[in-house]
Amino acid sequence: MTGFIYDNQNIFAKILRGEIPNDTVYEDDYVLAFRDITPKAPVHILVIPKGAYVSIDDFGANGSAEEVAAFYSALAKIAAQEGLQQNGFRCIANTGEHSGQEVPHFHMHILGGRPVGPLVLEL
Ligand code: 5GP
Repeated sequence: MTGFIYDNQNIFAKILRGEIPNDTVYEDDYVLAFRDITPKAPVHILVIPKGAYVSIDDFGANGSAEEVAAFYSALAKIAAQEGLQQNGFRCIANTGEHSGQEVPHFHMHILGGRPVGPLVLEL
């Protein structure tokens, strides 16, 4: 699938290259996860594929089966590792302009550690 142009100067690309430090909570061959620099909840983790994907739809269309499986497996491991399984958590993947996606490297936010409230849309 075409139409996704990856900017290798985005901040998460720099984190993956080790040019910017991060607070890693999980890493494997396909996935890196680290704490958000401005946490919105007691647990606020960003999970990213190591591959160059702009967004969740780019990843879903163009990621390999191994990459996609590793990503969801990592999400589950991180949730367990952070003690989020019992009380639950929220995953958010902002995608494109209407979502306000700031960093154009696919990332899943994991938010938890307290009730995270209703899903509120600011219109
Ligand atoms: P988005 O709005 O793209 O879904 O979310 C981007 C997230 O990346 C924001 O929650 C923001 O706080 C986080 N962020 C931006 N720059 C950095 C950084 O340099 N390090 C870390 N750990 N998080 C960052």
